[in-house]
Amino acid sequence: MRTMSSESAATGSTGDIVDGARTAFDTGRTRTFAWRQQQLQALQRLLEERSTELEQALALDLGRKPIDGYMADIISVKNELTHVQKHLRKWLRDRKVRTPLTMGPGQSRIHLQPLGTVLIIAPWNYPIHLSLMPLIGALAAGDAVVLKPSELAPASSAALAALLPEYLDAEAVRVVEGGVEATTDLLDQKFDHIFFTGNETVGKIVMAAAARTLTPVTLELGGKSPVWIDDSFPLDKAADWVAWGKTTNNGQTCVAPDYVITTPDVVPRLVDSLRAAFRRMYGDDPRSNPDYSRIVNARHTRRLIDLLGSGTVVVGGRHDVDDRYLEPTVLTDVAPDSPVMTEEIFGPILPIVTVDSLDEAITTIRSRGEPLAMYAFTTSSSTREALLTRTSSGSVTFNAVMLQLGIPDLPFGGVGASGMGTYHGESSLRVFSHERSAFRRYNVSDKLIRMAWPPFTTRGEKM
Ligand code: NAD
Repeated sequence: MRTMSSESAATGSTGDIVDGARTAFDTGRTRTFAWRQQQLQALQRLLEERSTELEQALALDLGRKPIDGYMADIISVKNELTHVQKHLRKWLRDRKVRTPLTMGPGQSRIHLQPLGTVLIIAPWNYPIHLSLMPLIGALAAGDAVVLKPSELAPASSAALAALLPEYLDAEAVRVVEGGVEATTDLLDQKFDHIFFTGNETVGKIVMAAAARTLTPVTLELGGKSPVWIDDSFPLDKAADWVAWGKTTNNGQTCVAPDYVITTPDVVPRLVDSLRAAFRRMYGDDPRSNPDYSRIVNARHTRRLIDLLGSGTVVVGGRHDVDDRYLEPTVLTDVAPDSPVMTEEIFGPILPIVTVDSLDEAITTIRSRGEPLAMYAFTTSSSTREALLTRTSSGSVTFNAVMLQLGIPDLPFGGVGASGMGTYHGESSLRVFSHERSAFRRYNVSDKLIRMAWPPFTTRGEKM
C-alpha cells in the first residue's frame, strides 16, 4: 500500500503520533489478511528498490562496506519476509484443541488476535535489521506500530523515517526518531506491547515504565556469550569461526562470541590460530582494510581500549580513538573478576579464560548468569550433552557461531538477564498476537454439567 498520509513523525507530539496509530488500528483494517499481506509485500518492495540508500546509511553509521551492510542488515530481513509471507495464512489458522467430555460436547480452539498498537525500540548495532525484523512480526500480526530507531545510528534512523511512510500504511506505522528524551516520552504513552532491543540497563527502564500501565514487554538484551573449545576439534577451524564472529560488525553483535573458555594446553595453539585467522581475513594492517568495520563512536572506543588492561595482549591491541579503530585483539591471563570479564565486551577483543576441566568451565559459565548465546567447538557428544543440559542461554550452537539467527524456525531470544520472549518466523507472529482461547459449547443437554451446580448436599452430592 502506498502512502496514505505523508505526515512526518516530527510534526506531531508523541501523544498525537501514538493516538494516530491507535486510530488506524481502531478502523479495523490492520486486522485483515489483505492489509497484512500488502504491508509485507510493500516492505519487500522497499528493500528491493531502496537498498542502496539503506546501505549508504549503514556505511555512514558503522563504516560498513555496501556488501557488508547488505549481508548483515538486509538479506536476513528479506529472507524473513519471504518465510513469513509463505507461511502466514497457515500460521493464522485457528488451532483446535481437545475438549474434555465433561466440558463438552463443544469445540475449543486458539485464535490469534492482533494486540493493538505496539512500540518497537531498536538499538544501533544492526539498526535496519533490528528495526525491521520485529516490524515484520507486528505487521504479520495485524498491529499498528510505533518504531523508535536508535539515535546512535542517525543515518539509518533517518532512512527508516523517510522510507517506511513512503511504502507502508503511514497512519498505522509511525517512526519516531530521537534519543533518551523521545524514548522516555514514548514510554509515558499506553501501548499494548513494548518490544525492546538493547542493553540490560535500559531494559530495566523499559520494564519499569511498562509496569505502570501493565503493558507486556519483550526484552531482547545481551550478555557474555562464551565459547568452549577443546582439542578434539581442529583448533584452526574453531579459530576461524571465532575470529569471524568477533570481528563481524567489529564485534558489536549481540550474539558475538564474547570470551573463550578452554584448558591451558590449548591456549598457545589457539592464539597462533587466531592470529593467523585475523591475518587471513584482514591482512597485516586491518586499519587500512575496507573489510574491517569501525566501533560506533569514540566513547565506546575508549571503553574498549580501557578493557585492554584486563589481561596480556597477545594478538593485536593497536588502536586510534579518532578513527574509532581497535585492531582484532586477543587477551590471555585474564582474571575472572577483571572488567573485561564482568561486562559485555561488544567490540573486537577476545579474552581467553583457562579452566582445568569441562566441569570447571560449566561452573564458570553458570556463575555469570544466562547469556544470549553459547558456543562450543568439540567432537565429543558427552561434552555437547553436558553443555546443553547443565548450562542455560538463549541459544546454543555447536561447531559454528551466530548461524542460529539465520534458521527461521528457531525462536530467537534470551533467558534470565539476556532477555525475555522470542521472535523470528512464527515466534514473531505469536509475540505480537494474543492467543485467545475460544470455546463453543454445542447447544445440547446441560444435564451432566448441572450435576456440579448448587444446591449441594452437605456431602457435596446433588440433592
Ligand atoms: P542503544 O544505545 O541504541 O539503546 C537501545 C534503545 O534504547 C535506543 O533506541 C535508545 O534510544 C534507547 N535508550 C537508550 N537509553 C535510554 C534511556 N535511558 N531511557 C530510555 N530509552 C533509552 O543500544 P545499546 O543498548 O547500546 O545496544 C547494545 C546492547 O544491545 C548490547 O547489550 C547488545 O547485546 C544488545 N543487543 C541485543 C540484541 C538482541 O537481539 N538480543 C540485539 C542487538 C543488541
